[in-house]
Amino acid sequence: MYTQLGLYIDGEWLNGDNRAGEDVINPANEKVLARLPHASPADLDRALAAAVKGFALWREKSAYERGRIMKKAADLLRERAEHVARVLTQEQGKVLGEARMEVLTTADIIEWYAEEGKRAYGRIVPGRIKGTRQLVLQEPVGVVTAFTPWNFPTLTPARKIGGALAAGCSLIIKASEETPGSAVELVRCFIDAGVPAGVLNLVFGVPAQVSEHLLRKEEVRKISFTGSVPVGKHLAKLAADGMKRATMELGGHSPVVVFGDVDPEKTADVAAAGKFRNAGQVCISPTRFFVQEPVYSRFLARFAENAKAIKLGDGLEPDTKMGPLANPRRLDAMENLVADARAHGAKIVTGGKRHSNQGFFFEPTVVTDIGDDAKLMTLEPFGPIAPIVPFKSFEEVVERANRLPYGLAAYAFTSSTQTATAIGDALQSGMVGVNSMAISTPETPFGGVKDSGYGHEGGIEGLEAYTNKKFISQA
Ligand code: NAD
Repeated sequence: MYTQLGLYIDGEWLNGDNRAGEDVINPANEKVLARLPHASPADLDRALAAAVKGFALWREKSAYERGRIMKKAADLLRERAEHVARVLTQEQGKVLGEARMEVLTTADIIEWYAEEGKRAYGRIVPGRIKGTRQLVLQEPVGVVTAFTPWNFPTLTPARKIGGALAAGCSLIIKASEETPGSAVELVRCFIDAGVPAGVLNLVFGVPAQVSEHLLRKEEVRKISFTGSVPVGKHLAKLAADGMKRATMELGGHSPVVVFGDVDPEKTADVAAAGKFRNAGQVCISPTRFFVQEPVYSRFLARFAENAKAIKLGDGLEPDTKMGPLANPRRLDAMENLVADARAHGAKIVTGGKRHSNQGFFFEPTVVTDIGDDAKLMTLEPFGPIAPIVPFKSFEEVVERANRLPYGLAAYAFTSSTQTATAIGDALQSGMVGVNSMAISTPETPFGGVKDSGYGHEGGIEGLEAYTNKKFISQA
């Protein structure tokens, strides 16, 4: 029911051979799903040599040929969606419905890049002298390394594989060791669709050792990382040492500004659905709720009702509404945030503790009467905890919303067009949802500002991230 794990290097699946490795755990019951092999330094060198060879081959293919193979990979993923979603739920914990949605969106991302690769246009700038041409071309950056986390184990790898392959790059991806089966299934779709050996390589290992090894290599020309701010800063330094291009998709602490002119119940329903998706382990999860005083009490009450109604359980069970956290680190983090909130005099409206003594479950939690300096209001929670606090004026809430070093996602709800425009402009964030929580689609740019990183995935920006601009002056 799970899947056969392995490394995929130079067109070959590798497993066993006395490689070091680790167990993959189902977070709903803490049982071992499978043993995951780690890549040795020699495996990584082989992957790099394969990627160099793969790049020479892949860049020569036309964007149409590349697109056809990628489109086939997307179709294969759709055919296999039910199986892949089950693998994903078992290793990551999210409910099966969310896993299915993730897999289908993953297929859309691959298809979108397959199409967009055909439109990596350059431009002609008028020459100063008659008969001359000034050409601006886009070329693939070269061999790419990508590092992806455990919270969206097919979608995040696909954003990187899709952009890189569409642009004509080859790739070594190190997916999360905690959710390797989803990445294995995804890579299988590309192989079965006809991606040649060496173009796409999949490795696992000790993350710091793999990134250090690969980023020291001259042949690697770009890194794309999704994960936490401290790791992103460390990898950005390594990339800078080798003057490598970098895309950094890091964490956030998304403010949600609810103005007094909305229907508080309807807004609370939408906001709670967004908050508890994937048990809050989403980088654009709404995490700091500021509600204008006239609607604060009603919003808080309805949001807490939503939280209490959520049924926790194994994500494969049909009536489960929220699964476990993905690993025990998140449980410790949640307990720590709640303890700190209590110490700051906060009120726990509902939840606040572990649920069940088997599996990494934590209750959907709502906290209020909490100061802006508590950990919950300053550190990315990455879990099912929602602090909800009141505010009075537009100026005050903008100042509070923008005070953190993060800037990935922000949300606002209002029935006034004037307020909608003003808050959209005022929030310091790479993405802003106004009366909407849908800020991540294949065709739109996804990325942060400030400590939340730089560069984009998705949209034309996501393809450009894998191309260099070359200027040719032709007399
Ligand atoms: P972590 O910082 O240990 O790891 C985050 C991710 O980076 C993991 O996938 C990990 O394998 C990888 N990683 C860690 N060190 C690395 C290195 N030196 N080189 C390459 N990859 C490396 O944190 P964690 O416990 O897995 O997750 C906790 C925090 O990470 C969360 O609180 C959240 O802030 C952040 N996170 C963000 C995202 C996101 O989508 N932006 C996803 C997962 C985790």
